[in-house]
Amino acid sequence: MSPFAFYAVVVLITTCIAAVVVQPKKESTPMTSPLRQAVQCKCGKVQLAIDSPSALRFVCYSKDYRGYYNSLNELAKEKNKEPNAVLDSWGGVDLTQIYPSEISVKEGSNLLTPTLIREGSPVRRVYASCCDTPMFDIGSAAALINTDLLEETNKPAVKFRILGRHALSNDKEKAPPNMSWSVPFGWFWTMPGRIQKDKMEPTPIDLSSPQILKNFKEG
Ligand SMILES: [Zn+2]
Repeated sequence: MSPFAFYAVVVLITTCIAAVVVQPKKESTPMTSPLRQAVQCKCGKVQLAIDSPSALRFVCYSKDYRGYYNSLNELAKEKNKEPNAVLDSWGGVDLTQIYPSEISVKEGSNLLTPTLIREGSPVRRVYASCCDTPMFDIGSAAALINTDLLEETNKPAVKFRILGRHALSNDKEKAPPNMSWSVPFGWFWTMPGRIQKDKMEPTPIDLSSPQILKNFKEG
């Protein structure tokens, strides 16, 4: 080993030890929390029950998610109804990650409409057609429930704010929260450990023939 390489290794080891020893213990909430509650669409015709031992909340600022919410609000507007897809002040969609088998439909399964925002999309986005409320989404490794439908006291703490580079600023008065430009390091650390194939079935509804959301455009 060259003297330079030896020196580099010593510095690296010392830095790592220092980081572990010196770093103060941060008080932090756990990454996940249990979530057990009834959930309904905004008009009440669709009723779900959620039973999850570990729910993880994050906010996504992607153009696709915002576009999906905008599209549902457009559908509501065409019917002279209130918009029910709620974005945060920076155009973010608040989601809580659980698994498909943890969602059961109690009422209104015929109103739950699985959609794709475009041909080939890997995510089935399911809304309640009675009032155009986004309910839940099912991807290849998770289910995402619309956090806006959860009781305030049951909402887990937000753990990630991803794709912040696509955030909007709809309220110039409010200082934006801390967002990741893409996804943070902690996302890669956490999410692979969240894959639980045995919880992907059964799905709460039949997802085999989703409709393409015709009015979709990126938000
Ligand atoms: Zn409804």
